[in-house]
Amino acid sequence: MNFTEFENSILDISQELPVHPTKEIPQRNTEEIDKIIFHCTAQPWNVWEVTDYDLKPNHIDEEGCPCITYSYFIEKDGTVYKCLEPEAKSWHVGKWNATSLGFCINFEALPETFPPKVQFQKAVFLAAYLSIKFKVETKNVLGHRELLETGFYYENGEKILRKECPGISINLDKFRMEVEIVKSKWLSQKLDVI
Ligand SMILES: [Zn+2]
Repeated sequence: MNFTEFENSILDISQELPVHPTKEIPQRNTEEIDKIIFHCTAQPWNVWEVTDYDLKPNHIDEEGCPCITYSYFIEKDGTVYKCLEPEAKSWHVGKWNATSLGFCINFEALPETFPPKVQFQKAVFLAAYLSIKFKVETKNVLGHRELLETGFYYENGEKILRKECPGISINLDKFRMEVEIVKSKWLSQKLDVI
């Protein structure tokens, strides 16, 4: 699958997903985006169920979020959805929301489990696609747990994880290496991608 084939395979449901009845979706300039963030649902929820959870009173806000918290979503069968326009500043990583764009996989992340191969491959493709599209370096493709304060903090010099997201079984250094390989291949194909 090359860059264009991958892009064409993304299903855009951004106009179909429900949004909060009264809250405005905060907007940003996409040039602010300097990080791509990898999340998991930690629940067996599809994109519609996640949206439903996000819009109702939840752990992020007692009145609900303005919209789904993720810009892209990958189901277990490898279907990739676009959920939000990149200008939407969704509520997925606290103080990093303005400068990051998040994608999520439907994955419970139970101990010793790993996402289905087809889904994980799409996560690699999506991260490569987004990092090319928004000119984000591969080193800034991060797992939620790698973000200071929302993902981890320091206490007495010791690093404490607040989140395991996108799942502790996922080696993020290895993930970035796979993303870099796909990016190099796509860019060497001299496609009109930038
Ligand atoms: Zn997360």
